[in-house]
Amino acid sequence: MQDPVMRQAACVCGQLRLSLKGEPLYVSSCCCTRCQRRTGGFFGVTVYARPDQVVAGSGRTQTFHLPDGSTTFHRCADCGTNLWWVPDDVDDVIGLAGGCFVGQDLPAPQRMVWVEHKHPFVQVPTGLPTFDGPPD
Ligand SMILES: [Zn+2]
Ligand SMILES: [Zn+2]
Repeated sequence: MQDPVMRQAACVCGQLRLSLKGEPLYVSSCCCTRCQRRTGGFFGVTVYARPDQVVAGSGRTQTFHLPDGSTTFHRCADCGTNLWWVPDDVDDVIGLAGGCFVGQDLPAPQRMVWVEHKHPFVQVPTGLPTFDGPPD
């Protein structure tokens, strides 16, 4: 059996790292207002994986719980990059910041969600499934 592919993600300053073992469950672009503010980009790209696929590296973290109790963000304690997040009500999935996998040959996003909040100038790749809100 082939060894599963390993991909590394890191924060901006490099002190917080993680490894993803095997292929992600899926990759999703999200135009929701939280992803726009969280990333500072016009949409966020999330790599979803099972918790047992994620190998935490060294690094100091800070957490931020969304006030609605839906999600906990894990950020680098030094530079503040939000490297991963965990839904508080689901224990079988973890979201990883796609943009932190620099140079790691990630699969392309398979859908774009919350396009209701998409800036008009953001182009949706041809054929990419979109959802006005959350995915069905
Ligand atoms: Zn950092
Ligand atoms: Zn979002």
